[in-house]
Amino acid sequence: MRMTEQRRVIARVLENSTDHPDVEEVYRRASAIDDKISISTVYRTVKLFEDAGIIARHDFRDGRSRYETVPDEHHDHLIDLRSGQVIEFRNEEIEALQDLIAKRLGYRLVDHRLELYAVPLDDPKKRA
Ligand SMILES: [Zn+2]
Repeated sequence: MRMTEQRRVIARVLENSTDHPDVEEVYRRASAIDDKISISTVYRTVKLFEDAGIIARHDFRDGRSRYETVPDEHHDHLIDLRSGQVIEFRNEEIEALQDLIAKRLGYRLVDHRLELYAVPLDDPKKRA
């Protein structure tokens, strides 16, 4: 892939983001660095990066595609339905269990995605 200066800016924005931004947010951050970047360039570049396997697209059920650079180490996501915050986690028991389920069904697991949709536990101290 040819890395133009604008693509480089967009790649850097994605690398520095820990919050799984959508295209419009990537555009806001990229245009703060280079105001000549257009939203259509961001759309095209994000698609290009996705096709190249550099970034992952997520659908956290809010109607927007969210992006993150493909991490070195796999993680799963918990989505806070009240705030929309996305929390990353990794749990070895879940990882092992998924392997086991696939194996029992006669498969070797090669990938998975797990999304937990949750609301914060009520804090009894706050209610008092
Ligand atoms: Zn993530």
